[in-house]
Amino acid sequence: MREALKFYIDGQWVDPVEGVKPLDVINPATEQAFGRIAIGTAADVDRAAKAAAAAFPSFSRTSRAERLELLGAIIAEYQKRHADIAAAITEEMGAPAWLATQYQAALGMGHFQIAMEVLKGYSFEEDRGGTRLVKEPIGVCGFITPWNWPINQIACKVAPAIATGCTIVLKPSEVAPFDAVIFAEVMHAAGVPKGVFNLVNGDGPGVGAAISSHPLIDMVSFTGSTRAGIEVAKNAAPTVKRVAQELGGKSPNIVLDSADLATAVGGGIQSMMLNSGQSCNAPTRMFVPRPKMEQAKAIAKATAEAITVGDPNGNSVIGPVVSEVQFNKIQGLIQKGIDEGATLVAGGPGRPEGLDKGYYVKPTIFADVTNDMTIAREEIFGPVLAMLPYDTLEQAIAEGNDTVYGLAAYVQGDEAEARDVARQLRAGQVNINGAALDLTVPFGGYKQSGNGREWGDHAFAEFLETKAVIGWGAAQAAE
Ligand code: NAD
Repeated sequence: MREALKFYIDGQWVDPVEGVKPLDVINPATEQAFGRIAIGTAADVDRAAKAAAAAFPSFSRTSRAERLELLGAIIAEYQKRHADIAAAITEEMGAPAWLATQYQAALGMGHFQIAMEVLKGYSFEEDRGGTRLVKEPIGVCGFITPWNWPINQIACKVAPAIATGCTIVLKPSEVAPFDAVIFAEVMHAAGVPKGVFNLVNGDGPGVGAAISSHPLIDMVSFTGSTRAGIEVAKNAAPTVKRVAQELGGKSPNIVLDSADLATAVGGGIQSMMLNSGQSCNAPTRMFVPRPKMEQAKAIAKATAEAITVGDPNGNSVIGPVVSEVQFNKIQGLIQKGIDEGATLVAGGPGRPEGLDKGYYVKPTIFADVTNDMTIAREEIFGPVLAMLPYDTLEQAIAEGNDTVYGLAAYVQGDEAEARDVARQLRAGQVNINGAALDLTVPFGGYKQSGNGREWGDHAFAEFLETKAVIGWGAAQAAE
C-alpha cells in the first residue's frame, strides 16, 4: 500500500491542518485500492500559499546562474526517481509500463531540460528608447493538474515557473497523486529552497477552489476539463488572477485525397489510441474522402483489432481507462454512437474478451459518423474514434473547425496542400503527417480548449509580468 497522508509545505512534510481525511486511490487494472492520500482543505492551501508568498521575495531575486544550477539539480534527482515515477503512474492511472517510462515520465524530465535550455538564452530585459522593459516573475503560482499525463502536466508548469523565479502551490489530481508525491521528494532532494515548491493533495471543490480564490496566489494554471476550468476562472475573478487554462479537445484529423491511406488511417488510429485515448490532443475525428471510406474502414478495422489491451505491467499497447466513472461514461458514449446510427467498425460495448476485472475498453471505431452526432461532439476520453466522410476539402475544414474546442488538429497527405489546410484550421497546434512531438514549441488551445500557451519559451511568458521603467536611460536615448 502506498500512503501519503502529509503535505509538502515550506520544505517539510506536514500533517493536514484539520486532521487526516483519507481517500483511497484505485488501481484501474485491478479495481482495488492500492494507496491512500489525505484530502486537504482551504486551511492547508492557506498554509502553503503563505509559505510560497514568504519564499517569493528572495527566490524571485535569484540569478539566472542560480536557477540554472537548481534546474540541473532537479534533473539529476528526477533521473534517480524516473522509474519510481513511471511505476506510480502505471499503478494509479493504468498507463502501460513502457508508456509510463518512455513517454509519461520522460516528458516530465523533458520539460525541465528544455526550461534549462530556454533559460540560458532568455532575454528578461530590453531597451525601448529611454525605457527599460523588465520581465519579472509574476509571484505565487497555483497549479491544478489532471490524471491523464500527470507528471508531464506538472513538469510543464513547474519547470518554467522555477526558471522564471516564481513560487508554487501544486494540487495534483486526486485520482493520480503518487507521481506528484515522488516529485515533491525530488524537489526536496534537489535542494529547492523552502516554500518555493509546495504540494497539497485534495479534490477540486475543496483544494482546487481554495487555490483558485486565494488572495496570495497571483496566477493559476489549470489543466483539466473545460467544466472545471470555467469554475477555476470564476473563482479566480474576484482576486483578478491571471488564469492559464489547458482544457479539453475534439481534434480533427483530415486525411487528404493525396494521402497514403494505409499510413494516414493506421497512424491516425495508433496515435489516437495511445494512453487508451486519454489525451486532450488525441485525433478523435478522422475525416476521410467519401470514395475512400470503404478502404479506410478496412484499414481501421485491422489496425484497431491489432491493438492489444491488457495488464499495464505486460506488453499490451493500451491498458485500462483510469476509473469506473470514465469506464461508464465511455460505455455510454459507445452505446450512443450505435443508437444515433453510426456504423460500428471495430470494438463496441462491453469489456475485451478475458478481461473481466479492470476498466478495460475495446479499441472502438465508428464510421459513417456525422459531425452532429454526440460521438463527434463530446470529448470521450477513451479509445473511441469517429470516422467522418467528406465530399469536398472545404467541407472537411469547415466540419473540422465546427467544434467548441481548438486544441489540436492533424492533416495527412501532400505537404503543400497540408500546409494550406493547416492555416485554415482553428487550433493551437496542427500536426502534418504524424510529425514527432516537440516539447519546445507552444501547446495550448483556441476557443474553449483554453487560454495561454505552455511548453518551451512560450511557457515563460505565462509566469512573467512586464514592467516598463520610463526614464531608465533618458539621457542616453536623447543623444
Ligand atoms: P478534471 O477537470 O476533472 O480535473 C482536473 C483537475 O482539476 C483535478 O486536479 C481536479 O481535482 C481539479 N478540479 C476539478 N474540479 C475543480 C474545481 N471546481 N475547481 C478547481 N479544481 C478542480 O479533469 P480530469 O478528468 O482530471 O482530466 C481530463 C480532462 O483534462 C479532459 O477534459 C482533458 O481534455 C483535459 N486535459 C487537457 C489538457 C490540455 O493541455 N489542454 C491536457 C490534459 C488533459
